Amino acid sequence: MDDAWVKRDRDVVWHGFTQMAAYADGAPVVVERAEGHELIDVDGRRYLDAISSLWVNTMGHRVPELDQAVRDQLDRVAHSTMLGNGNRVVIELAEALAEVVPVDGPHFLFCSDGASAVEQALKIAFQFWTNQGVTGRTAYLAFGGAYHGDTLGALSVGAGGFGTDVFDPLRFPVVRAPGFAEPAWCDRAVELIGEHAASLAAVVIEPLVQGAAGMQLAEPHQVRAIADACRAHDVLLVVDEVATGFGRTGTLFATDQCRVRPDLLCIGKGITGGYLPMAATVASQRVFDAFLGPDLSEKTLYHGHSYSGNALAAAVALRHLRLLEERDVLANVCDRAVELAARLAAEVAPHPAVGEIRQRGLMVGIELAPPADDLRWGRRVCAAAVERGVLLRPLGDVVVVMPPLTITGPEIDRIVTVLRSAIDEVCGP
Ligand SMILES: *Cc1c(COP(=O)(O)O)cnc(C)c1O
Repeated sequence: MDDAWVKRDRDVVWHGFTQMAAYADGAPVVVERAEGHELIDVDGRRYLDAISSLWVNTMGHRVPELDQAVRDQLDRVAHSTMLGNGNRVVIELAEALAEVVPVDGPHFLFCSDGASAVEQALKIAFQFWTNQGVTGRTAYLAFGGAYHGDTLGALSVGAGGFGTDVFDPLRFPVVRAPGFAEPAWCDRAVELIGEHAASLAAVVIEPLVQGAAGMQLAEPHQVRAIADACRAHDVLLVVDEVATGFGRTGTLFATDQCRVRPDLLCIGKGITGGYLPMAATVASQRVFDAFLGPDLSEKTLYHGHSYSGNALAAAVALRHLRLLEERDVLANVCDRAVELAARLAAEVAPHPAVGEIRQRGLMVGIELAPPADDLRWGRRVCAAAVERGVLLRPLGDVVVVMPPLTITGPEIDRIVTVLRSAIDEVCGP
């Protein structure tokens, strides 16, 4: 890597979740451009983007149709405010999304990041009750291992870890159910919902996969059991599809596999195919209606972000939604997921350094089993893969494989072959 760029980077840019004193030593990739599924660095080296640029990319980079959608929108308007006014392409996007989201009578409050979509959902759930004169519904139930973003509200419903424990004094308390990795987590959560119903504004859950927990899996009937408990006790259900949405698990939304209709849905990451920051909180008709009242009344939702409903992002999101269908991307997710599972089972799972492989669609966590705590196998295996031209990033000792949804068979081979030789190099053959 061209050290000059790394030095210039380190001197002025602060990277998230990164110890900047060690940044330059980690051989960071400085990207200049991309082609399809490959990122190209400032030295012209190519890397298969096997984490989809941290889970946001769906169809690769520089997709001609998506590039064109941005260019066309530039000739109209890049951005105008959603506060009290509308924008044509945002209306068109919301109409298109309304046809496919698993929410009854959906209404879209746009923002720019998944964390903001979760914050909005938490505030909406809280005010939903106060708007109806219901008191005491001020708590949330969330799960062990949960991740919902890094702003303070999202961090509070999240389970912590990743070095964020320092913020514990700032977190508001929640009713904490066991995570998907715990036995009988679902039964216990259903019990807790019953016990705490009178104080719960909402339950917040990642459907089918707790991504940041290292791809911990739930079954569709378990998600449905949580939803049923919410319904039975009149607690709102917030489903966080920021990671699972837009095809990742083989259906457009993971919720589609659970036959669940949440009151609030959070979407983000893949919504623009990985092009531009956009996220949204989707409220059901019932939730939305609870905010209707006289102008300037207390029933109004006093919340909004400057770049909410950005027109460039909306244009690319709209084109992306159509393109997922035109290219039958979900079928590719299902076919490649089967292939990836078979290749991993044959070549990676038998390695003695590998503990467990967890996969749903094209979300995969390969849990390494280091004999001691401080070996940093996850980090080192991913670094060895990057050296071999496959960009990976771990969650602790879980190697995450999240390829673009349009990944091909030969590229799956490349990922698995490189991963196996990276594990051999770091952990021994
Ligand atoms: C990434 C993620 C978020 C946060 O989204 P940002 O855009 O990074 O703020 C929230 N929830 C889940 C499940 C996520 O994976």
